[in-house]
Amino acid sequence: MTVLIAGAGIAGLTLALSCHQAGIDCRIYEQVKVVGPLGVGINLQPHAVRELYELGLEEELEAIGVRTREVAYFSRKGGQIWAEPRGMEAGYNWPQYSLHRGHLQMMLFDAVQQRLGPEAIITRSGVSGYSTARSSAKIELAGSGETILGDIVVGCDGIHSAIRRQMMPDEGPPVWGGAVLWRATSLAEPFLTGATMAMAGHERQKFVTYPLSGPDPETGRALVNWIAELKYDPSQGWNREDWNRQGKLEDFLPHFEDWNFDWLDIPAMIRSANVCFEYPMVDRDPIESWTDGRVTLMGDAAHPMYPIGSNGASQAIVDARVLVRAFQDHGLSADALAAYEAERRPATTRIVLANRQNGPDQVMELVEQRCGGTFGDISEVLSRDELEETAAAYKTLAGFDVGGLNSRQPIVKAL
Ligand SMILES: Cc1cc2nc3c(=O)[nH]c(=O)nc-3n(C[C@H](O)[C@H](O)[C@H](O)COP(=O)(O)OP(=O)(O)OC[C@H]3O[C@@H](n4cnc5c(N)ncnc54)[C@H](O)[C@@H]3O)c2cc1C
Repeated sequence: MTVLIAGAGIAGLTLALSCHQAGIDCRIYEQVKVVGPLGVGINLQPHAVRELYELGLEEELEAIGVRTREVAYFSRKGGQIWAEPRGMEAGYNWPQYSLHRGHLQMMLFDAVQQRLGPEAIITRSGVSGYSTARSSAKIELAGSGETILGDIVVGCDGIHSAIRRQMMPDEGPPVWGGAVLWRATSLAEPFLTGATMAMAGHERQKFVTYPLSGPDPETGRALVNWIAELKYDPSQGWNREDWNRQGKLEDFLPHFEDWNFDWLDIPAMIRSANVCFEYPMVDRDPIESWTDGRVTLMGDAAHPMYPIGSNGASQAIVDARVLVRAFQDHGLSADALAAYEAERRPATTRIVLANRQNGPDQVMELVEQRCGGTFGDISEVLSRDELEETAAAYKTLAGFDVGGLNSRQPIVKAL
């Protein structure tokens, strides 16, 4: 009785830990030789944090994350549009964390190795395809062509999933809507609350930043994550997406030169980074099915989404938990995969589509359209009701409205 997992990213590792918690045997096949701490910052929303706490990872998260206290939106002129408390300060029973994606991945990787044993993750084993039968499923490994037999196969192999490609051979590459992100970390003085996720700009030019550490006691500076975003005509094309491609300051810094606000000197923050990474913002069109017999998809393989509203990693974590509850209810069966997909595919499709319409960041676009970013009193541009409704609607859509999350039962049942 084994679940074969393709990919040791956030989804695959959380799935392995969740299977282990439920007493289900599993193994991960990962294409890279050595799993290392790649990427820059991400935010984990309280609905995902709850799941990691229920996996007993509270102390580990505390050690690598900063509790996000506030989310604040600003216009391109630096005027504050909206700010709201986050995590426990907003009444959730769990915090929201800002943390380094690579540190999260390594924390989950270490937990899998400790709990399931080092043999649970087989590296240098890219999955090239699958086959499915009435009561079993197989993966095929790239290079050797070796096949491995299990009960279920889960494709957690990211935005370029080989498992998805076999399911959807005509789908083609991810879809680029025209935005390019330059992502980096810098050492900088804390700004606003010291744990604020701040966003400035509008749909065609945006800057997002949040700290990944507290201030160093000696220098007073914290490690701060930032993302500069510009939008181009998508028909022009851009470099293929690669999380590790280095970017060039001259491609985007000139656009941000006058974004020196009283709460943050953005050009100075950009200049102080040692290295930045360039990534075209891509997703994929939602598909009609994630499942083929005893094989299904999860995380970015199932529903890659724009990194708007901080939900990519959070939704991958929730996917893993819902699939394991389906195993608890239906065993390692095609019925379990159908139950998982019936719950998760519509929910994540809504988020993918909402993120294409700017998700909660739409308030910045509305301000840009209505007044070009310059205002005295924000209530003359956007009413408080509009602001509150936009924020609340996205939380409900993404599954983290405070009342619903605090009151619902755990997803995975205790043994
Ligand atoms: C190197 C890297 C850096 C990233 N950096 C950021 C970032 O800075 N900010 C951000 O918002 N998001 C980042 N992401 C994406 C983010 O991790 C995901 O959007 C989200 O966490 C969902 O996770 P996932 O496990 O579904 O996919 P991923 O995190 O993409 O994990 C997929 C895993 O599958 C492995 N894999 C791929 N193909 C195969 C195959 N054929 N066989 C076996 N294994 C395979 C990959 O090596 C990887 O370990 C990054 C992803 C990667 C892989």
